[in-house]
Amino acid sequence: MLKITHAAGHAGVTPGKRSPDGYTEWQVTSEIVKLVMLELENYEQVIQKRIDDSTGKIDIPLKNRCELVNDWGANVHIDYHLNAYGSGWNNAGGIETYTYTTKPKEAAQLAEKIQKNLVVELGFRNRGVKTADFQILRETKMTAILIEFAFMTNQHEAMKMRTAQYQKKAAKAVVDALAAQYRLKKKQVVSAGTLYRVQVGAFSDINTANDLAEELKAKGYPAIIAAL
Ligand SMILES: [Zn+2]
Repeated sequence: MLKITHAAGHAGVTPGKRSPDGYTEWQVTSEIVKLVMLELENYEQVIQKRIDDSTGKIDIPLKNRCELVNDWGANVHIDYHLNAYGSGWNNAGGIETYTYTTKPKEAAQLAEKIQKNLVVELGFRNRGVKTADFQILRETKMTAILIEFAFMTNQHEAMKMRTAQYQKKAAKAVVDALAAQYRLKKKQVVSAGTLYRVQVGAFSDINTANDLAEELKAKGYPAIIAAL
């Protein structure tokens, strides 16, 4: 069983953490979290939990976020972010995925897979897998990674990341990487089984058949006439 926690960085109300035109980092990353969780529902043996405030109204302090993840006993934690450079629009751009400075083996493998998939899916510059002494990576006890999907101060990337299309691409990149790293299997789709048809009557006179079909249609049944 794989226990995964997800957190969109910050919150909708966090000061700063927004594009030069006021669109928040959380607005984008929250959607990606939702899409990743929805897609992961299709896999067996996954239990997952979102640990940021899904209304975006409370920026849960990092210390509490780490406690939530540790106390729940997650095997994997993923933190979702958008990068920023300066305060106005500029050309700094690209994708980065972070592990803690000690480069834990499993986290490094997962980060490489996510980074590779994101570069293919989103088409932004590959800034590579990096390490950082981030609290969410340092004080969590499991495989933890932090993703910077794009720069919200890069107008081209920011606008793309606001679209459902790019949010879906980003989510696909993360889910495919998790599925590959942990060899997740998709749930079997249950087939519809045998279908039974109901026959109302058989008539040699087409007019009688038409009359009955009309009567059934009037009552809301999708009647059809078939020649036997
Ligand atoms: Zn962030």
